Amino acid sequence: NVLLAGRLAVVTGGGSGIGRAICSIFAREGAKVAVVDLNKKSAEETLSLLPASTSDYRAYGTNVAISSEVTAMVSQVHEDFGEVPTVAVNAAGITKDNFLLKMDEQSFDDVINVNLKGTFLVNQAIGKVMSKASLPDCSIINIASIVGKCGNIGQTNYSASKAGVIGLTKTAAKELSRFNIRVNAVLPGFIDTPMTAKVPENVKQMIEMMIPVKRMGTPEEIAEVCAFLASTRSSYITGAAIEVTGGLNF
Ligand code: NAD
Repeated sequence: NVLLAGRLAVVTGGGSGIGRAICSIFAREGAKVAVVDLNKKSAEETLSLLPASTSDYRAYGTNVAISSEVTAMVSQVHEDFGEVPTVAVNAAGITKDNFLLKMDEQSFDDVINVNLKGTFLVNQAIGKVMSKASLPDCSIINIASIVGKCGNIGQTNYSASKAGVIGLTKTAAKELSRFNIRVNAVLPGFIDTPMTAKVPENVKQMIEMMIPVKRMGTPEEIAEVCAFLASTRSSYITGAAIEVTGGLNF
């Protein structure tokens, strides 16, 4: 009675936070998982948190912002598992916050490169193998953010990258539907992960007051939505940007 039996999922950013929770919940739902992260050690740590079967899960050290690394990873996954992935989740992401008037060009480029270009490269490389394989239902899930829709002080680079991911997702959905590939974006709100651990306590409390449900979300609350989107139960959802924010929309 599991949601993702027979699925092979590639999860970028799988070494931490939301990506790690996605790997765990996908494994619980019966998927095989390729855990991809810039930091191979943390991807391997994720493996150790998954159910006992070793052959169903593998770790890959990949920089999603580098085209050659992404294509090499996708063919390695294909070779290692002996099958084409039917699910991909793009959860790799970084922040380099500063006010617009103070932000240096490098911080802008770095965030766009990982969050937006990295998502593009993985959608393209995975889309190529999925479309060639003529499968009945594939699902690509791009983790954007509510700030891609609403903006957030100190995050011109990050909110631009996430707005870009939403646009990319909607176009990819239109182009890939003829190959039975659905593409959706998930827009988390304020989630308790290593990424938000650096937010000062008083700022956290202020944000929590703004959230209608009055608390941060957990990585698992994002991962559950991804599991639904990865499964055939969401077969009529594509090109959607789904907010998972406890009601927060600034
Ligand atoms: P996190 O920092 O805990 O995890 C991000 C992971 O991405 C890390 O393991 C990191 O090593 C990996 N990564 C970074 N650059 C990479 C690269 N170039 N190639 C491959 N992997 C790379 O952060 P998180 O909070 O779990 O965030 C996951 C995703 O969710 C990100 O896209 C983030 O922007 C998004 N998001 C998070 C929140 C939040 O409140 N935490 C809110 C909205 C959206």
